[in-house]
Amino acid sequence: MVGPGSPKPETGVRFPPPLQNSLRWYNSAMDLVKYLNQKEKTHIIFDFDYTLFRMVIPWEKWERKIEKDLRLLDQNIINDYKAGKINLSELQNLYVTRFGDSINKKIIAHNSWFETRHAQKFIPNKELLRLIPSLSKYNNFIWSSNTKYNLHKVLKKYGIYNIFKKIVTRNDVNLVKPYDDGFRLIHDEKTPIYKYLFVGDSGSDKQAAKNLKMDFHLINYFRTDTTSF
Ligand SMILES: [Mg+2]
Repeated sequence: MVGPGSPKPETGVRFPPPLQNSLRWYNSAMDLVKYLNQKEKTHIIFDFDYTLFRMVIPWEKWERKIEKDLRLLDQNIINDYKAGKINLSELQNLYVTRFGDSINKKIIAHNSWFETRHAQKFIPNKELLRLIPSLSKYNNFIWSSNTKYNLHKVLKKYGIYNIFKKIVTRNDVNLVKPYDDGFRLIHDEKTPIYKYLFVGDSGSDKQAAKNLKMDFHLINYFRTDTTSF
């Protein structure tokens, strides 16, 4: 490995960067244990939905009560969302980057109402939840694009709420993943990025990790189709 103390190559060959910041892909919870046993990670960040639990909710109803407000600002973004061209994270990030704080507050209030009112159940990722108590020596975090109320309730119900040092939700940020707003609330300046591992399921999670040059562990417990990653 090429490190700060390595001799300089004489031939002008460019060596690849050190491996600790590259993305890594793992599929199962057991892979995660093996990986953590080999690496000196100190901080683990978990996504929530489709990673720790799957929130069963009729997302197709999401826009009903906020569509008018969104259309008043921009028709194209909501049209692209309804046509399946962008996902809900992208929709939120586009409106908030273009129209700022007032629409962000509206979206947070709407999502809080929608997720609390419409979530039908939370299916646990049993494989991963079984491991969580044994990870108490790590600094564990949640970085989720979902709203606060359900997350806190479910984590408490399953007795793992206290495992997490901080729970960052949609309520805490302007922009959701892959933007790094949430990570800025987690990041401890004394801890270099290579000590962190991000555990998530989605393209936004993967991209957030990539932007931050952070190692990534893919959870596909709830997803059989991972071709989009
Ligand atoms: Mg997720």
